[in-house]
Amino acid sequence: MTLTMEHRPALAAEEVSSFVHQFYGLDGTLEPLPAEWDQNFLLDCGDKKFVVKIANRDHPDDVLELQNAALDWLLAMWKSGLTPEVIRSRDGSGIAEVRAGDGTTWRMRVLTWIPGSPLASVGELSNHSLDEIGFTLGQLDRHLEVFEHTGMNRDLAWDFRNAQWISASTSRIKNPGRRAIVEKILLQYRGLIVPLLDDMPQSVIHNDANDENILLAPDSAGIHNVAGLLDFGDMLRSYTVGELAIACAYIILGKNDPLGVVGSLAAGYYRSRKLSDSEIHVLFPLVCIRLCVSVTNSAIAIEEDPDNKHRLISDAAAWEMLEQLQDINWREAEDKLRAACGRVALPKRDDVGDLQGVEVLLEERRQSVGPSLSLAYEQPLEIVKGRGQYLFDSSDRAWLDCVNNVPHVGHCHPDVVTAMSKQAAILNTNTRYLHPLLARFAARLTATLPDPLDVCYFVNSGSEANELALRLARTHTGRRDVIVVEGGYHGNTSALIDLSPYKCEGPGGRGLAAWARKVAVPDRYRGEFRGRGEDVGTAYAEQVGDLCGEMVASEHAPAMFLCESILGCGGQVVLPDGYLSGAFDKVRAVGGLCVVDEVQVGMGRVGTHWWAFETQGVVPDIITVGKPIGNGHPLGAVVTTREIADSFDNGMEYFSTFGGNPVSIAVGMAVMDVIEKEGLRERADRVGKYLRNGFRLLGKKHAAIGDVRGLGMFMGVELVRDRETLEPATEETAVLIERVKGDGILLSAEGPYHNVLKIKPPLQFRETDADLLLGSVDRALELF
Ligand code: PMP
Repeated sequence: MTLTMEHRPALAAEEVSSFVHQFYGLDGTLEPLPAEWDQNFLLDCGDKKFVVKIANRDHPDDVLELQNAALDWLLAMWKSGLTPEVIRSRDGSGIAEVRAGDGTTWRMRVLTWIPGSPLASVGELSNHSLDEIGFTLGQLDRHLEVFEHTGMNRDLAWDFRNAQWISASTSRIKNPGRRAIVEKILLQYRGLIVPLLDDMPQSVIHNDANDENILLAPDSAGIHNVAGLLDFGDMLRSYTVGELAIACAYIILGKNDPLGVVGSLAAGYYRSRKLSDSEIHVLFPLVCIRLCVSVTNSAIAIEEDPDNKHRLISDAAAWEMLEQLQDINWREAEDKLRAACGRVALPKRDDVGDLQGVEVLLEERRQSVGPSLSLAYEQPLEIVKGRGQYLFDSSDRAWLDCVNNVPHVGHCHPDVVTAMSKQAAILNTNTRYLHPLLARFAARLTATLPDPLDVCYFVNSGSEANELALRLARTHTGRRDVIVVEGGYHGNTSALIDLSPYKCEGPGGRGLAAWARKVAVPDRYRGEFRGRGEDVGTAYAEQVGDLCGEMVASEHAPAMFLCESILGCGGQVVLPDGYLSGAFDKVRAVGGLCVVDEVQVGMGRVGTHWWAFETQGVVPDIITVGKPIGNGHPLGAVVTTREIADSFDNGMEYFSTFGGNPVSIAVGMAVMDVIEKEGLRERADRVGKYLRNGFRLLGKKHAAIGDVRGLGMFMGVELVRDRETLEPATEETAVLIERVKGDGILLSAEGPYHNVLKIKPPLQFRETDADLLLGSVDRALELF
């Protein structure tokens, strides 16, 4: 919702006076009160005072109704006398529709006036007063905890749930030093706090307990107590702890010991509403981010509306405070706030301890785990938890995961975890019994595929799927030989290693098996044929045809052509248009089968389609599926035609002990449910385009970005030293990955020269994550 000045009421006092008489039977003198978007008056009737509020026309009705309903509720349930009472008009309504002399209609409300001085006008506050303010806000939130209203789910820039909008607007802050403060806080907030927010308790909150909206009055000893709470206009449903954070953000302005002030407010709040561990954990960061939202908003206001003093009111003090806050360590702040609330201290987790922990784990791993398992990063990470698009290390630091396509719908997605644990508690067995889930899941999977791909086999990994595809093709054709693409990887069994150039032609490999032949990567950026035309795809497909001809001539006609629908290990290469259709024609012409490996790219990752091969306009004979289908649970599938399945049914039973067990199938079902329910394909399409566009813009600034390619959420950014010679920026890529890691972002490299950033995150990845990644890569590239 955006409020506009154009829809701000500007009624004459005489007219308003006649309305309050006509609608409320009230007579008195009117005095204008300050208001940003609405028009407010103090109505003094001698014995009683009221506030008359005329709403901006842009407020939806249910937002005004929400405020009235909440005030009615607080009056009845809290009975504190601290919140205004809604006065009913003569016809019993809380909102009077009034028609001005110029024909315009407005919505008017009348509330009781609460005496007291705004906190902003009271000088230094004692700890007692701060505690009392916190206590009152805690009371308010407790009483609103079960309050609900249809107008409570609003879209407001001031909602903590939306706070990250500022990441796209920090450039509006013209002073580079100040912009850096906001960006630094934002980065920490994104990495450490945002991933935790999904679990924060939410309820309707006042959402604007700033120093103008809290009224104080001194008692006989001169100690200020809370006299009232005003302006419920920003009310909405959001993180409950946000209430306290907002009050803190304003009350600390101009104070020397902001953390001490937050502690006193938190202690008071805690006395009436217990904060959970995680609420205390996020409180101080929320205070920081609220001020960041405030100064970013001001920067925008300065650009758009230089005369609107009201919006700039807290700007100078907020900047001064942010300069102080940026140096406060969030963990130390949390420790102080826990102490203020009387909670036990958290165990010490200093960084030296963490490093030692990693060393110990490394040594244990060296002693008892096969040494050929590699580790990512110069300083390995100990990852102990996952959620959505984030991983968490042993010190609770969050890492934005840009590379792991296995947790397709998000790390530890609760729906998948629930489906798995429920089924595990009921039954897990093999496919030799009838079970309703198996055929149902097979039908659901084949429904996403074109005819005649309608027969499924379930296995436990991508390797097992490709191994079975090889057997199917060999049995069906009675041939042994295969064609693969250079740089391809298809799995870790003996046969698959022998046909995967990525492995058998790399360190320790013995080259392709005699029965495996390869064709070049159809790379339109650095391959033999370049450019965007369909002729590029056709030219590479001709090479498949030539190889088929050679193989037939030497009596080694291929059983199958095996190709990933987008090349992964080969360098995140999107196949040129016409490649698969051309290649399939050639292979089929010599009686071979066409098999696509969708282990990396299937299940909606490309966004526009369920399967990446569909973008090539072909129908394969066999597809293999792995990683994403189980979201991390070991599940794979092979889907083929009835004809091929019948050839395979030659008397030898096919059995995989774990393949197709009910727990795995329940997981697969849940994964498909989540993709559909959460619109993850649409998101992959949208965010993928957004991110590629962002990288292309970065390419205008950094010559090292040679090529940006991908479909949906599977993409590659190729780094070069020279855009003409395409000399790969191999070492620079490794350095960049480590620098980006410094910002809490996990990336890795792919391709024969290890110079292609591979980006294939869990599909929960959002535009704000994309902004974070782009900003970090931008800064890292600036250093070259
Ligand atoms: N095919 C492709 C394209 C892959 O990338 C992989 C794994 N990286 C596999 C097959 C093998 O899958 P898994 O590791 O599950 O056996």
